Amino acid sequence: MRERVMTGDRPTGKLHLGHFVGSLKRRLELQESHPMTLLVADLQAFTTHAERPEEVRMAIRDVMLDYLAVGIDPARTTIALQSLLPELAELAAIFGLLVTVGHLHRNPTIKAERASLGIDEEQLTYGFLGYPVSQAADIVGLGGVLVPVGADQIPHIEEARRIVRRFNSLYGEVLAEPRALVGHFPRLSGVYGRDKMSKSLGNAIFLADPADVLRKKVRQIYTDPTRLRVTDPGHLEGNVVFEYLDAFDPDPEGLAALKERYQAGGIGDVAVKERLVEILDALLAPIRERRTLWEQEPTAVERLLQEGSERARAIARDVLSQVRSAMGLPLRL
Ligand code: ATP
Ligand code: MG
Repeated sequence: MRERVMTGDRPTGKLHLGHFVGSLKRRLELQESHPMTLLVADLQAFTTHAERPEEVRMAIRDVMLDYLAVGIDPARTTIALQSLLPELAELAAIFGLLVTVGHLHRNPTIKAERASLGIDEEQLTYGFLGYPVSQAADIVGLGGVLVPVGADQIPHIEEARRIVRRFNSLYGEVLAEPRALVGHFPRLSGVYGRDKMSKSLGNAIFLADPADVLRKKVRQIYTDPTRLRVTDPGHLEGNVVFEYLDAFDPDPEGLAALKERYQAGGIGDVAVKERLVEILDALLAPIRERRTLWEQEPTAVERLLQEGSERARAIARDVLSQVRSAMGLPLRL
């Protein structure tokens, strides 16, 4: 039996280009050969969206539609909803016993997210600080071993590995250590540079963006502020248009030539952005089309999530009984 692939997304909005290169592409490859579970992590979404339950509810549907639109095949891949699997919450409570608060405070992704969301000590909830612990429970509780993720998730997978090692050292070799599989392009910047592209930072190009929105967003992309005229030499460093071309241009030789011209002051931002729009539109057009088809089948989409959650729950129950039994906890009332 091949190792199970497990990963997921927070339903905080539609999926974007960062997801595509950071994780979705890898999932599409892996679903051909491996059993896979995708978790729509709605409770984790509440760690930043507790005051916006309606947004989370809508985004569950959006994330499902995005999965189906990019080609996740529900006949092969199990798609589950976190809040329908109470075993994961119980496992998270157990894992919380194995992690120190100091260690969570030092987690670099937690630090970066707190900084970009402006979460100070007073606003920091127990749930937010502890979400890497509950994520470890999601992965382990669903039998995940290979975890395709973007670079921001590496500290969290490391945390999950530490928890598993700690558990095994206390209660016996019961749990498998998960491993991160970082995507083809582990960190895509947002259109304004600086932060990574994120659903919740207002800097994303979404897979579902219509062609005109795509064009508008590409026009806003941060390029080279030192360049005033087309004939000025252009810089590639920190230039988000070229970062996106590196991630999406299917013609590396053409791209190398374009970079040379840009650096020599032979081509303007507008023309480079035009090329990017063409490349992205070719990628997104079929995804948009499939999304529109699934949008017309809301009941079928909901049923897929229901059925997937039932299948995932059977795995979670099984893992939890192994955990309880290793700890010497009673298996039933
Ligand atoms: P939010 O802003 O609400 O946290 P997000 O855009 O960060 O949303 P998540 O649901 O938190 O998306 O992340 C889902 C997966 O996508 C994770 O594996 C994460 O590493 C990956 N990912 C997210 N953003 C990027 C990005 N900009 N580049 C590469 N991978 C990314
Ligand atoms: Mg995130």
